[in-house]
Amino acid sequence: MQEPFLQAIPILKKIESYGYEAYFVGGSIRDLLLNRTISDVDIATSATPEEIKKIFDRTVDVGIEHGTVLVLHKDKRYEVTTFRAESQYKDYRHPDKVEFIRSLQMDLERRDFTMNAIAMDQFGNLKDPFDGKTDINRKIIRTVGAAESRFHEDALRMMRAVRFVSQLEFSIDKDTRNALFQHANLLHFIAVERITNEFIKLLKGTAKTAAISILLESALVNFMPNPYDTKYSLTKCIHYQIDILSEDQMWLIILYFQNGDPAEYLKKWRLPNQKVKYLTTCLRSLKVRENREWSELTLYPLKLQMAIDIEMVYRTLQKQSVDNVDDEISNKYERLVIKSREELQVGGNDLIGWFNRPAGPWIKEALNIIEEAVLLKKIKNSKDAIKGWILNKCNHQQEQN
Ligand code: ATP
Ligand code: MG
Repeated sequence: MQEPFLQAIPILKKIESYGYEAYFVGGSIRDLLLNRTISDVDIATSATPEEIKKIFDRTVDVGIEHGTVLVLHKDKRYEVTTFRAESQYKDYRHPDKVEFIRSLQMDLERRDFTMNAIAMDQFGNLKDPFDGKTDINRKIIRTVGAAESRFHEDALRMMRAVRFVSQLEFSIDKDTRNALFQHANLLHFIAVERITNEFIKLLKGTAKTAAISILLESALVNFMPNPYDTKYSLTKCIHYQIDILSEDQMWLIILYFQNGDPAEYLKKWRLPNQKVKYLTTCLRSLKVRENREWSELTLYPLKLQMAIDIEMVYRTLQKQSVDNVDDEISNKYERLVIKSREELQVGGNDLIGWFNRPAGPWIKEALNIIEEAVLLKKIKNSKDAIKGWILNKCNHQQEQN
């Protein structure tokens, strides 16, 4: 068994010592069977949230109504969720009522895909009633039970299927795929945030082209944020080598191909403001980069990662190799004499002293001129050199006037 599970075994043992059942479930078992890095180890149990809270001293209520309690163990936190059946779906989204049950089998039945419906006990034995392991070996995404009704219960599962295509490089089983194509319109019942969440995971995956093609062919894209622009952008994107791009680089290439206001576009996805700002700045610089090579002056206002993201997208759009982008841009960036205004060896007070003039807007202008001269290596970044240069420059100007 792998480390993340070994660390959590004491939790299973403790729950069992009180007479309840407890298993590892969900994505971590799937990732274990796939030899992928295991993220969160989730636990399913026959004990109710109240019972779990009595067993453990350190717990946090995170979603009691869904049956989930966080158990803190050593320096880690584990989601412990009571076996549940989700009855009465209304509006094709979150179940109306969560019913706690004592049966693992029924808990596995309510899960989305066979690969996600496998449990493992503390000894490493698998409970795999829907033969998820076979589907994992064959790299197939298949709903537990009839796809059509599972997508009617919760339409987000269609987005999840497509993001797993990208994340795991799997394909979608025929019946599941048919149902997805037939019922794509149900996605309009789903909240934007949940769609965006899955889309971001798609963008982080490695089979983005395959997944995006399914979004387009199935018409799921018509029920995602900004359907018109998104469809256009994604149709364009898949003609480039996008599979190796990062999430931010993907947003940037999507933005590049959409026509309206970029900030407005991203806000409709409910992306955080900080991300919107980052990406719109990148987009502006990408358009500058299209017209000229990097120079000290275009590189300097950016963070290194920004410049890398921009260059990656630029070369992707040019159908050029992106192999050395990281090194090339980092080297260029390292060669900048200063990386920020703070590194300049003079400040406003120096200028006030040298010119014997009160503070005013002239200081900012003068610092801009100095900054540019230092970046372009016209003067050394030292107090003496800058002082000599700027005083000399002003004398010249006065003579000319
Ligand atoms: P990831 O590795 O990206 O976290 P995951 O499979 O763990 O993938 P989660 O969203 O963390 O995905 O969900 C944990 C588990 O809960 C899933 O493996 C699945 O068993 C179940 N699950 C999640 N969302 C749904 C859903 N919409 N319908 C049914 N079961 C779901
Ligand atoms: Mg998970």
